[in-house]
Amino acid sequence: MERLGEVMKKMETNAIRTQADRTNNREHSVPMYLTSSFTFDDAEQMRAMFADELEGNIYSRFSNPNSTELVDKMCLLEGAEAGYATASGMSAIFASFMALLKSGDHILASSSIFGSTHTVLSKILPKYGIEHTYADVNKPETWESLIQKNTKMIFVETPSNPGLDIIDLEWLGKLANKHKVILNVDNCFATPFIQRPIEFGAHIVTHSATKYIDGQGRVLGGIVVGKKELIKEIYTFCRSTGPSLSPFNAWTLSKSLETLAIRMERHSQNAHKLAMLLENHPDVKQVRYPFLLSHPQFEIAKRQMSMGGGIVTFEIKGGIERGRRFLDALQMCSLTANLGDTRTIATHPASTTHAKLTEEERLSVGITPGLVRISVGLENIIDIIADIEQAIEKSK
Ligand SMILES: *Cc1c(COP(=O)(O)O)cnc(C)c1O
Repeated sequence: MERLGEVMKKMETNAIRTQADRTNNREHSVPMYLTSSFTFDDAEQMRAMFADELEGNIYSRFSNPNSTELVDKMCLLEGAEAGYATASGMSAIFASFMALLKSGDHILASSSIFGSTHTVLSKILPKYGIEHTYADVNKPETWESLIQKNTKMIFVETPSNPGLDIIDLEWLGKLANKHKVILNVDNCFATPFIQRPIEFGAHIVTHSATKYIDGQGRVLGGIVVGKKELIKEIYTFCRSTGPSLSPFNAWTLSKSLETLAIRMERHSQNAHKLAMLLENHPDVKQVRYPFLLSHPQFEIAKRQMSMGGGIVTFEIKGGIERGRRFLDALQMCSLTANLGDTRTIATHPASTTHAKLTEEERLSVGITPGLVRISVGLENIIDIIADIEQAIEKSK
């Protein structure tokens, strides 16, 4: 890795300037290594590399200069010892479960998590003898009593998708370490420029790089970073089972990290403005945004996050029918399943990302039938607000 000396202390600089060593072509921007394998100088080097006695690239399912560069940058940003890049956020999360847990183990998971993670916990892991309990995100005082003898991992999302629930990471880091349980935090909504879970005691941080890290709706990707000995297990799992990130996606995501800091600032500014406007709108109720005073965990959000992030949720008065009319009336904002894009996106979690949950499960984590999630983009906020206001008006 090429780092440009002592002056590089700040995250924004590291995200831009840390890069794979230059080749003899002295390129400024990192090239893309579209190669499935790498050559050896001789039989002895080949043997030593396979025996892990020498570091270096062997085969792109194991590692590739582009994925290594992305991971090294993410480790610097999250303050992690090691990491691995995977083909999607779900493969990063799944690998963190499969590599670190075995039959008979138990996961304590926050009740407020991404829909597919919910499916992995409730439908897939039980087939392999890994059980879970959901801990109520609104009742942290109950969590300690839910830790069992066989609990090996606590898994949370904060802010959560789409509930925007905030979990006190300092408290949870202490709880996990007291009980010698791995704390695994999905940091997708915040990114390291807003929140760094490892500083609060997390052992593993997972990301859907598809969201803010790419930030332009182009590629899928996932990253897991954390303690060296845990990442080693995850590496062994991924190297052998193959959910590795492609060099093209790794190159794209590494380029995206260069603008992540500035994008998160503008996403947060725009989202905060929209949230304040919606909160005062007579046709809207239950606006949620981590940095609104009305957010139930506002104090915790202010302590552990430097900005509020780019997601706002709200409910239009008039239930699901008006909610649908609102979505249909949008002129500029996209109706699509992604988030964290430069383009503002509106979604209806109850009928999309969380459709596989039961109505009761949805309500327990605040996903009401009329809930709308806005991923506030980087367009001029005046245009974003104008589109949302006219759609609310038209949906009457
Ligand atoms: C989208 C998302 C994921 C899954 O990521 P993919 O890249 O789509 O596999 C996981 N966690 C959260 C919080 C997400 O928003």
